[in-house]
Amino acid sequence: MPVVIVENDTSQWEDETGSVYHFPKRYKAWLVEGTEVIYYKGRITDRAFAPKRLSPSPHYFGKARIGKVYPDPKSGKGDLFAFIEDFAAFESAVPAKLDGQYLESVPSSRVTNYWRDGVRPIAKTDYDTILSHAKLLPVQPPVSATATDDENLGLESFVEGSKTTYFSTRYERRKDLRIKAIAFHGLDCKACGFDFEQAYGEHGKGFVHVHHVVPISKLGGEQVVNPETDLVTLCANCHAMVHRARDVTLGIAELKKLIRGRWVSET
Ligand SMILES: [Zn+2]
Ligand SMILES: [Zn+2]
Repeated sequence: MPVVIVENDTSQWEDETGSVYHFPKRYKAWLVEGTEVIYYKGRITDRAFAPKRLSPSPHYFGKARIGKVYPDPKSGKGDLFAFIEDFAAFESAVPAKLDGQYLESVPSSRVTNYWRDGVRPIAKTDYDTILSHAKLLPVQPPVSATATDDENLGLESFVEGSKTTYFSTRYERRKDLRIKAIAFHGLDCKACGFDFEQAYGEHGKGFVHVHHVVPISKLGGEQVVNPETDLVTLCANCHAMVHRARDVTLGIAELKKLIRGRWVSET
């Protein structure tokens, strides 16, 4: 059954629309891999968010599909998160109500509380109705290891050359992959445990390098990157160390064996 996911302008989770969705376990049965998703926003409550929305009124703004679902390691309450696949934004808002009629069929038993849930299953016919009013922006193609772009997102960007250390933007680094890699692997270094927010406070929040476990140059072909198995999060030091030898990329297990304790400030 398709679902509507309600995206609030402010949320306890720092989710990126169209990449990752965190949710409480009560929605687990509805958000399974392959589920079709429509994104929805309720009435605007804070005008500051107006430029980020397609409309101040309740509306639908995109479609997607649920990818793999994982337990949220940071949650003590059994929360989960899903990778979001094939997100396609609507070119303009599809209003929740057209000609005085809701596009979703609201069960008569739920008239008073229907709109309050963060996730609601809808009938396939309602899903089709909503989409019939939507004009989709083009879907981004799956990320391949050989694609390129020049977004500087800190995803596998560290390349050490003989004369210069530089940030390469030669290979595809889509933001989506970075968000998924961080959702799965966390923001701490998977070799030494370093955490930028712990060390640098607010200034370091959200910072981490994302490293391709298999060197991109060896991947060849149009291989799609799997954030779970192909990527890992590393601190800047460990990332530099796995790439220190020009021809060989160290594995994370190999690097871990080399680590001889961390320098700790005396102050
Ligand atoms: Zn590290
Ligand atoms: Zn790397």
